[in-house]
Amino acid sequence: MRDLEVFHDLQREATDWRRYLHQNPELGYRLENTARFVAEKLASFGINHIETGIAETGIVALIHGQGGDGPTIGLRADMDALPMPEASNKPWSSTIPGKMHGCGHDGHTAMLLGAAKYLASTRNFKGAVALIFQPAEEDGRGGERMVQEGIMDRFGISQVFGMHNEPGLDVGTFAICNGPVMAALGEFDIVVKGRGGHAAEPHRSVDPIVIAAQIILGLQTLVSRQTDPLKSLVVSVTKLRAGEAYNVIPETVELAGTVRALAPSLRESAEKQIHAAAQGIARGFGGDIELNYRCLEPLTVNSTAETNLAIKAARALVGSDAVNDKFPPAMGSEDFSYMLEARPGSYIYLGNGQTAAVHNPEYDFNDEAMPYGIAYWVNLVETVLAVD
Ligand SMILES: [Zn+2]
Ligand SMILES: [Zn+2]
Repeated sequence: MRDLEVFHDLQREATDWRRYLHQNPELGYRLENTARFVAEKLASFGINHIETGIAETGIVALIHGQGGDGPTIGLRADMDALPMPEASNKPWSSTIPGKMHGCGHDGHTAMLLGAAKYLASTRNFKGAVALIFQPAEEDGRGGERMVQEGIMDRFGISQVFGMHNEPGLDVGTFAICNGPVMAALGEFDIVVKGRGGHAAEPHRSVDPIVIAAQIILGLQTLVSRQTDPLKSLVVSVTKLRAGEAYNVIPETVELAGTVRALAPSLRESAEKQIHAAAQGIARGFGGDIELNYRCLEPLTVNSTAETNLAIKAARALVGSDAVNDKFPPAMGSEDFSYMLEARPGSYIYLGNGQTAAVHNPEYDFNDEAMPYGIAYWVNLVETVLAVD
């Protein structure tokens, strides 16, 4: 097993970086200060191939090993914060009102910087490592844009790896699974069209509110009656807007929501099923609908060979029992999926301890997890790119 002592100085340093980033959160693609900080650190480690400005504020940096020719693998960290107020009461709380590192991307950035510093000074591997610092994970699909801007071909990346902290998993443990890890995401808007009128004379109107109520309930049968009970699909109506007055039946109702599925075919069939159910219900009562359905993040799928390498690297660090290799998939989505569509790879969870959940105002990345995350990246590189 790898001696974690080596990483303790690095942990202290990376903790300082993490807390600085935590105090200065930035959103989406507007990560100017964060990106400048990351690029300066990378340069200070003696890394001379650093490309900035990819997908606006994304960065890719290359470290070549001294073990000779070999493939290039990508390690990805997301850098963006969330538009929410912080209530962690930590001394390093956000200094910017309404912005907070509520998902631990400050920790992800600091850990990849820590690994970069170590790898740049030891270079005990063949081929090269591409450090991918990504903007806009939370809602801008920065991962997709980095792929569209050609990072896989341009840097010759053949495999990609990601890591996310996981509250509820003990510090010093990891969790992963082969195959689908996170759901494919779809988003829909429905306009229910009726005919407005006086609330006292419903028979002279077509009430879109009553129609919308039945559509909302009807959509739940996509999961309960139209999908194999052993398959995973979630349909949630999360927005509803209708009417302005007590005595007016409105012309239209707008509703919107999300579809999440652990199989691409389920997400696609959901579009037809939503359309059929909503239109059938609306027309049955004299109204109609308009549906706008968008496929967003694809399924996040871990490939077998790379997942086995990730498990091997984690087990060599913390032992067999501390790595759960059958972690159940989640119905959230992750834009690392675009990188995994472009190249085989694997996404692993790092134990954040018994902390508040991500996206909760009391959440904070656990700095005790830092050495495990840094050492995992290092182990992974020295495993996948082991010198012959
Ligand atoms: Zn998040
Ligand atoms: Zn996150």
